[in-house]
Amino acid sequence: MPTESSISLTPLFLLFAFAFGCIVGSFLNVVVWRLPRGESLSHPPSHCPNCGHAIRAWENVPILSWLALRGRCSACSQRISWRYPLGEFSLGLLYAALAWNVWRNQLPLALLPGFFWLTASLLAAAQIDLKHRIIPDKLNYAGMLVALLLSLLLPGSRLLSQELPPSMRAGIITDAALDWLAALCAKTSPWNWRFEALLDLLLGLLLAAACLLIFHSLGKLLLRFRAESRQAIGLGDVKCIAMIGAFLGADAGIYILLGAASLGFIAGTLQIILSRKKTGFFSELPFAPFLALPAIFWLIKGNWLYFIYQAIMK
Ligand SMILES: [Zn+2]
Repeated sequence: MPTESSISLTPLFLLFAFAFGCIVGSFLNVVVWRLPRGESLSHPPSHCPNCGHAIRAWENVPILSWLALRGRCSACSQRISWRYPLGEFSLGLLYAALAWNVWRNQLPLALLPGFFWLTASLLAAAQIDLKHRIIPDKLNYAGMLVALLLSLLLPGSRLLSQELPPSMRAGIITDAALDWLAALCAKTSPWNWRFEALLDLLLGLLLAAACLLIFHSLGKLLLRFRAESRQAIGLGDVKCIAMIGAFLGADAGIYILLGAASLGFIAGTLQIILSRKKTGFFSELPFAPFLALPAIFWLIKGNWLYFIYQAIMK
């Protein structure tokens, strides 16, 4: 049970997470604009795209500056889109929700860096995919690298090593594979948490990617059969689920992929019904938002399938 002091600290903890999310969200706006255009993230510094006015520090405070400037550039009065403060506010709320999940379930704080990074990456991937129909490799590879560093440096950063609430516990594949490997390696090499974390990461990355790669190949084959050059599932999507698997392990990766496929199927069906055109499933749909939704849901609440199962069994 949370102690009295931890209860009084909670609002401060959540507020801190919210503020941190707003700051990261402000940087994410830059990432979403510049990364797909191949521009540097640091140079040139933020400026008004209309008049080139360099944004001063007080004009760069998340949400507040936009409100103070009433959504206009202080030099040329050009409108600044409401999407910027909305992006900052959204990530602030998500970070507060992540912090809430960790606090409520008494999970170690070491989980938060990975949760924060993955959520920000997925929010950026979803926005870029919606607009440009790509997921930049840099985003996916950076995520995999962070997952690797966390696995090697921070023992508590992986779900594997935690006492999890039932909704976040889904380790049939990971448990079986790691038990088998532990038995296999018992005689030859020392079995420590770093080794286990690394295997959990690799298993998650490879299994989740392999599952989506099958869809990617099937889609390609089907579309070639119909003499179409477009792709059903892009390789960017495969790398994105690989990144999710790297952070969360094989079981979460596969459940999240299942959720994404279900959402994609529903959206594809709706698209065909509403547009009345002969378009295939996933044809014009960006897949990253469908991956982001169940993944972020997992981080905040747990396995979506668990809740459906609970609702049916009631
Ligand atoms: Zn301006």
